[in-house]
Amino acid sequence: EAPLDPQRIRADFPLLARSVHGKPLVYFDNANTGQKPAAVIEATSTFYREHNANVSRAVHQLGEEATAAYEAARDKLARFIGAPSRDEIVFTSGTTQAINLVAYSFALPRLEPGDAILVTQMEHHANIVPWQLVCARTGAKLKAAPIAESGELIVEKFVEMLTPEVKLAGVVHVSNVLGTVNPVAELARECRRRGIPLLVDGSQACPHMPVDVAALGCDFYALTGHKMFGPTGTGALWARREHLESMPPFFGGGEMIRRVSFEGTTFADPPHKFEAGTPNIAGVVGLGAAIDYLEGVGMRRIAAYERELLAYADAALARVEGLRVFGTAARKAAVISFLVEGAHAHDLATLLDHEGVAVRSGHHCAHPLMQFYGVPATARASLAFYNTREEVDRFVEALQRVRKLLR
Ligand code: PMP
Repeated sequence: EAPLDPQRIRADFPLLARSVHGKPLVYFDNANTGQKPAAVIEATSTFYREHNANVSRAVHQLGEEATAAYEAARDKLARFIGAPSRDEIVFTSGTTQAINLVAYSFALPRLEPGDAILVTQMEHHANIVPWQLVCARTGAKLKAAPIAESGELIVEKFVEMLTPEVKLAGVVHVSNVLGTVNPVAELARECRRRGIPLLVDGSQACPHMPVDVAALGCDFYALTGHKMFGPTGTGALWARREHLESMPPFFGGGEMIRRVSFEGTTFADPPHKFEAGTPNIAGVVGLGAAIDYLEGVGMRRIAAYERELLAYADAALARVEGLRVFGTAARKAAVISFLVEGAHAHDLATLLDHEGVAVRSGHHCAHPLMQFYGVPATARASLAFYNTREEVDRFVEALQRVRKLLR
């Protein structure tokens, strides 16, 4: 298989041709959101120009076209993540809504005082706060498994903490701050052995590596479309069919019912039971186009290319004096959180922006992780398959200048 040619990829992403502050843009904020290939932009606009209608309601031609396009995206996503059935894919507005759906429909009815939910120290707030909300309502407790200084989960501790009162475990597949790739298949095996369902936050995995939920052996997998180079406001929850069947709906309304009367309502089968109201049809169609695009390039090639680009960046950054990198896991995605001695993360990001380099600074929605490292914020460069070695060089050169300026 030929290696990926980033110049050919870049030509497909109109925004990458932009400049900022008079410099060609180096977009290193991919963990925040991904840029969109023309195919995604066109799929969304073609939907509005030529096929726009509501889904599952009308028998007219446009209604059928809209429904077919929306449901085709469900087939694509099911295949893309190795879901055993298309009916196990529930479209949501993103990971946040997907996890909240599990928290309110699956966890809330099952939790009792004294029960627990187990997550890890490296979770995004989206995999912390929903559990706190349902714990507050039920008297259950949220526990967090510890990580090592390298940013790796201490697997033995996680397994030790899978005690009988734990009713659900949640773990991020790839950390948005550290890039750590968690050993999800191993964790899922341990959870399954104890009858504890495992939810995986796949936000940062889906854009960067092949994902196969059946092979991972988890129970729930949450993902977000905008980080996979699809439109904002799209995403999905994959869940095992038996879980979806056991879960009451979260939102009620149109589209999700079989029959409504004032005496009582019966619900549609999953996934429609969880998709009340008019969904983000054009967005989902765009997500389908993003999946087609990613599959056209090939997730294995993307992962291999990014692995090599990360190694290149690591080597270049090793020459920057006073640089502290957070997260040095053996299995790591191309996310680099860093600080420069004596400089605040926001100043780093602001000065890099003036050099045309877009990185994020802040807590990255991971306060507990910042507390673990004893810092209020980090700067973060997160790479994607359209980034290049030349861009890494520009980033490192800019960082050298910024470091001298701040000294
Ligand atoms: N989990 C992780 C690991 C993330 O990186 C993000 C996005 N920063 C989310 C959850 C939340 O995703 P969204 O805002 O698209 O719902």
